[in-house]
Amino acid sequence: MKTLIAGGGIGGLTTALSLHAAGQTDLQVFEAAAEIRQLGVGVNLPPHAVRELTELGLGDELARIGIPTSELAYYDRRGKLIWAETRGLAAGYRWPQYSIHRGRLQQVLYEALTQRLGEGSVKTSRRVTGFEQGVVPHDGVRDEARNGLPDGVRARVSDRDGHSQVHQGDLLVAADGIRSAARAIVYPDQGPLATNGWMMYRGTTQHAPFLSGTSMVIIGDEHLRVVVYPIGPDVINWLLVRPVPGEAGELGNWNRELDPRQVATHVHDWTFDWLDVPAMIAGSQMAWEYPMADFDPLPRWVFGRVALLGDAAHAMYPFGSNGASQAILDARVLAWSLATHPGNIDEALAAYEAERRPVASSVQLANRRQAGDVMARISALVRQDAHGAAKEELKAVEAQYKKLAGFDAETLNQRPSWSVVRT
Ligand SMILES: Cc1cc2nc3c(=O)[nH]c(=O)nc-3n(C[C@H](O)[C@H](O)[C@H](O)COP(=O)(O)OP(=O)(O)OC[C@H]3O[C@@H](n4cnc5c(N)ncnc54)[C@H](O)[C@@H]3O)c2cc1C
Repeated sequence: MKTLIAGGGIGGLTTALSLHAAGQTDLQVFEAAAEIRQLGVGVNLPPHAVRELTELGLGDELARIGIPTSELAYYDRRGKLIWAETRGLAAGYRWPQYSIHRGRLQQVLYEALTQRLGEGSVKTSRRVTGFEQGVVPHDGVRDEARNGLPDGVRARVSDRDGHSQVHQGDLLVAADGIRSAARAIVYPDQGPLATNGWMMYRGTTQHAPFLSGTSMVIIGDEHLRVVVYPIGPDVINWLLVRPVPGEAGELGNWNRELDPRQVATHVHDWTFDWLDVPAMIAGSQMAWEYPMADFDPLPRWVFGRVALLGDAAHAMYPFGSNGASQAILDARVLAWSLATHPGNIDEALAAYEAERRPVASSVQLANRRQAGDVMARISALVRQDAHGAAKEELKAVEAQYKKLAGFDAETLNQRPSWSVVRT
């Protein structure tokens, strides 16, 4: 079986590693960028994602590059604690939670893949622009006469000079991100990405450890919010979110740079005895802005032999450390489904969608609520000095979120593995 993968991000690379671990060797990743570079800032991986990467043999590498998050704490905008809970191993999980530099994570995945499958397994400067297949995506009718492809799929891939090649496979996994070209083909009427009019600013800074040294903190309210966590020794990752109605930039583009000192002005008086937020932000070399964007849960992810995965299938607001994590889970379930339905790719893809789409869709909606009503409700309680009630509300929200995203400790610790035992 030959699998073509569009996109060499966290989703695409984990898919290739998962398929290989499940016994597939004929794989090809096409990545539009010229190289897999250590771009970006931090990403937090809760234990459900860490479990999957550990079962792919990457546990030691994660421990080497990540900071094990031991605590998640919420503070109000005066720096007063609302609520804190333990995370990762400290919370009784069998796997840690890690805060990691996104580019380093991507590099670890890339290196593992090229070591296991060879340098040629990832082709850079290759953009998947379209596909043809025997199963017509929208009506599901087989039209073998049309292209002579009863089961397979042909992907059109263009290089940096615009030369196009056709690659044939049994399956095309579209892991090409929030602005997926493949999704645009199967959902031609989807329309533009959705946004709630919030802007996110992100950066990293050299900074001494704060609080426990492994804390992730969320400070603020529904008008202004800052998330801070360490991603390396003396390296802190931060994210500032604020509504900018009518000003949202290019949705889905997270590479727009701006001066961190400009970002720091939004929190000029957030100087607490445990962290000087404006100084921390202003001390960064660079900041990036990213308008918050997602789309409504999709009614279908599998179209014949094309399967959407990761952000291409379920881009979500980053309010819950779950976008990349859900992509990792998709990858593992896809490989598991293919291995447990030998010789029946269509059934395997149906099983993949049945397992993953309801979960990821509910996380998409939950992240919208986290960004919206949940924050507003908790902030209203805090403004009335009802920190106790806010704490109870947060506790309940977090517990419910872990359940729906697949990482409440009891369920995760007991769930059978998606690793395929090969004989
Ligand atoms: C501010 C912010 C903070 C976040 N924090 C977290 C967090 O803490 N925890 C978490 O789990 N998630 C987080 N996320 C979400 C996470 O970053 C994404 O969900 C994750 O990167 C999705 O991975 P992906 O591989 O599906 O897509 P992407 O990472 O977007 O990768 C897609 C890849 O495909 C390539 N590509 C695009 N089009 C094509 C094409 N046509 N052909 C070939 N290649 C193509 C791109 O160059 C890219 O390399 C955050 C997101 C943001 C914006």
